[in-house]
Amino acid sequence: MIPIAKPYLTEDEAQAAYDTILTGWITQGPKVQKFEEKFAAYTGAKYAVAVSNCTTALHLSMIVAGIGPGDEVICPSMSYIATANAIQYVGATPVFAEVQQATCNLDPIDAEKRITKNTKAILLVHQIGMPADIEAFQELCDRYNLKLIEDAACAAGSAYKGRKIGSHSELVCFSFHPRKVISTGDGGMITTNREDYYNRLKLLRQHGMSVNDRVRHEASRIIFEDHVEVGYNYRMTDIQAAVGIKQLEKLDWIVEERRKIASAYHEAFKVIDFIGLPPEEEGYFSNYQSYCIYLKPSSPIDRNTLMQELLDRGIASRRGIMNSHRETAYRDSHRSVELPISEDLQDRSIILPLYVPMREDEISLITNAFKDILIKKTIVI
Ligand SMILES: *Cc1c(COP(=O)(O)O)cnc(C)c1O
Repeated sequence: MIPIAKPYLTEDEAQAAYDTILTGWITQGPKVQKFEEKFAAYTGAKYAVAVSNCTTALHLSMIVAGIGPGDEVICPSMSYIATANAIQYVGATPVFAEVQQATCNLDPIDAEKRITKNTKAILLVHQIGMPADIEAFQELCDRYNLKLIEDAACAAGSAYKGRKIGSHSELVCFSFHPRKVISTGDGGMITTNREDYYNRLKLLRQHGMSVNDRVRHEASRIIFEDHVEVGYNYRMTDIQAAVGIKQLEKLDWIVEERRKIASAYHEAFKVIDFIGLPPEEEGYFSNYQSYCIYLKPSSPIDRNTLMQELLDRGIASRRGIMNSHRETAYRDSHRSVELPISEDLQDRSIILPLYVPMREDEISLITNAFKDILIKKTIVI
């Protein structure tokens, strides 16, 4: 059975977790600090704040950006549901905008149409690792005085116009869930260039506590903390951070390997004219967190049949990215929203297996399965 994904974890990560456990300092300690410093340096952002996952990263970003009840935040419906949920957590309303067919990323023209006097921010998602057009959205946000927040859950190691994702805007949120390109089990990171945001994020992730564990540990005089606002427990542990440091060292290599697999898929599928492939545009460097193909309306085989045929051959696949407005949690409150492109992409797309290391025979098993299925259905390519 070829799985859809698996994390690339080795003895290095296991040893790092083991060593950290034996130091006796297993949360909010030196490993978390080191991981933050290394992640900031990697992305080119001034600061990075480690948190428990990307959903909590998004929640804290909403708070520091000043989003609250009565505010509207524009985001894609076509994203993992955590994107919309983070907006709900602060009492604001997600306003779903349409994506572009080719990239699956938010469409700046459609987003602009949905701006009202209550709009406070745009939450921009880099869909399955493909960077969205950050400059277009920054320009839009500047023009309407909105905050730009990036949901880069899938985009560690991706780059936009020559710079790594994480360096472009004021708040960028990453995930280290096992389905992402690097993993700490669960985990998240926020990068920012703003010192005030950095300081407040560190407070909020640890109960609003004015003195962090490291400062107290290193102090030579007694020191008492204050809890200066109602915060959260959104901490990352040092065990996770130690794993994260090892993963980060491999990130560029992992991305290169993923891109090789993506280009093998590309070569195999480009001859099939009813399959739409991920775009490869200048300035948009994807880490291929997922490889998603689109079955055009001209396709002689329907999506679910193709997925079943793959499964029958021992190959896992997934349908396209979900639409939050179609889920029970959002359906009633977003009945009137019309997002034909997003819905069509969800219904007609297939995510294929992609993980490191993926052997050549595994890749050709998949590409050959496509040929076999199409021949069986007497589809000439
Ligand atoms: C995975 C994902 C999240 C949630 O990340 P967690 O670390 O699991 O909380 C949020 N947004 C997008 C776009 C994602 O893909």
